[in-house]
Amino acid sequence: MSMFEDIPVEVGIIYEGERIRRKNMQVELGGPKQENKFELARVRKPEEIEDGKVTIIGPDIKDMDEGGSYPLGIIIEVSGEKLEPDLEGVIERRIHEYSNFIEGFMHLNQRYDIWLRLDKKSFQKGLNSFVHIGKVLQRLFKSELPIVEKIQVTFITDPQRIRDPWKEALELYEARDAKARGLKDEEVEKFYGCGLCQSFAPTHVCVITPQRYSNCGSISWFDGRASARIDPKGPVFEIDKGEAIDPEKGEFSGVNEAAKQKSLGEVTKVWLYTAFGYPHTSCGCFEGAAFYIPEVDGFGLVHRGYKDVTINGLPFSTIADSTAGGRQVDGFHGISIEYMRSPKFLKADGGWNRVVWMPASVKERVADFMPKEMVDKVATENDVKTMDELKVFLKERNHPIVETWKEAPTAAEEAVAVEVEEEIPEGMPVATVPTMPIAAGGYKIILKDAKIYAKKVIIRPLKGEKLARKGK
Ligand code: SF4
Repeated sequence: MSMFEDIPVEVGIIYEGERIRRKNMQVELGGPKQENKFELARVRKPEEIEDGKVTIIGPDIKDMDEGGSYPLGIIIEVSGEKLEPDLEGVIERRIHEYSNFIEGFMHLNQRYDIWLRLDKKSFQKGLNSFVHIGKVLQRLFKSELPIVEKIQVTFITDPQRIRDPWKEALELYEARDAKARGLKDEEVEKFYGCGLCQSFAPTHVCVITPQRYSNCGSISWFDGRASARIDPKGPVFEIDKGEAIDPEKGEFSGVNEAAKQKSLGEVTKVWLYTAFGYPHTSCGCFEGAAFYIPEVDGFGLVHRGYKDVTINGLPFSTIADSTAGGRQVDGFHGISIEYMRSPKFLKADGGWNRVVWMPASVKERVADFMPKEMVDKVATENDVKTMDELKVFLKERNHPIVETWKEAPTAAEEAVAVEVEEEIPEGMPVATVPTMPIAAGGYKIILKDAKIYAKKVIIRPLKGEKLARKGK
């Protein structure tokens, strides 16, 4: 029997982290095929809310084609004596968590980037209306966050009628982000941590500081503070900053301690303002990513919505896979768009002086926050298509990274700067690893004494690697 008798499927924490593949999906809502998608929470006056109401604008699930893709807007309106507009971001982020409690219903990402799928089996069991989903959300919000006294939910799937609310949502996200700008990491004693994505990436914990927005781009330091206050046992918690071990790289004793504790010892050190050494871990729902380009010793940036391949020939999905899952991967770094606007953005690596390529659409969103002299020096897909073109562009525009290329390699570096390729005899491992953690489907799998086999090993020198590790 379901947790809720009138809901045709189970609801519970065990369904968090469930993935629904295309072949098993009844419908897809939002996601890469849809431009108009969003979720938004608003705090209203009690008289503006009809408690328990679920409104559907456009086709309901049962009216949708099997395997079809549809736009989706979710608006959660709440009231309560202790609720204030500052809590909207926090309430909104819980839509992700609570939706994922529903059997056969998958929710990914946040804000203007949501991507949901309904499983065929759950549809056949009777989960064929947004009314069921709205009811579950209402009950979970009220039971998990008692400060929510009244709640009404609206789902918009009509392709025409979603446009205006979508635009309004984008404006509200920007207004929220703008409000959180101005405060510096040095000015606060507490940071906040979030473990909401541990169902997908068990060793991941976001460290949210005034100048390092959460990876998903939906929780600011103010949101973190509000969330920890109203729900101290919830996924967002307070971190005592502790001693600044390395202010340049962003290493703090309290952050190390919190990461160690929340990752069950897997992550022991976090450097907040660099993509090298001990970078902040990446979960799976980061808004964008920074990726190191050894050929030019610079960084490329890309966001989730970019559909083409990036300058290194890889699409966002492959770059995301290279760093997701709660790992610390040198040079590959899940980040939010708002962090790109921060003065602490990759500060230890050179900040914007180290960025060489980004999609034009991201540049447009962050250009006002880049150093003025750098705006024309960072290439986009409209300027260059290949690595050779990028090098020419950077030289022509006098990008500061070009200066560093002039350093001649030492004799010792020249000696090792050759590519080695070796066939491996069948049955011989190329590496043995005493402990190898893998995160998958909400579980952490630890391989003990793992042996790795490969047909061929290619050793290729990474130009600029030495410079990069200095966090130049
Ligand atoms: S990306 Fe980070 S802040 Fe956002 S929900 Fe996940 S863990 Fe929390």
